[in-house]
Amino acid sequence: MILTFTCQCSNEVQLYAAGDRDEHGRYWLDVEDDDRLTIINGEGGSVFRCEFCKQSYRLLAT
Ligand SMILES: [Zn+2]
Repeated sequence: MILTFTCQCSNEVQLYAAGDRDEHGRYWLDVEDDDRLTIINGEGGSVFRCEFCKQSYRLLAT
C-alpha cells in the first residue's frame, strides 16, 4: 500500500507499507523522505507538515 502526500507547493512524498506489522496485523506506514514531510500527533489526530514551504495540514481521527 502506498499513500501519496502532495502539498500545494507541489512537494510530493510517498508513505509506503513497511514489511513489519503491529500486533493487530496492521502495516506500519513509513515516510519516504522525512526531510520533506513531518507527521506530528495533534489533538485527536495527526498534523502533516510540509518541510519545503512549512504549510501544515491537520487530519482529524474519527
Ligand atoms: Zn509545501
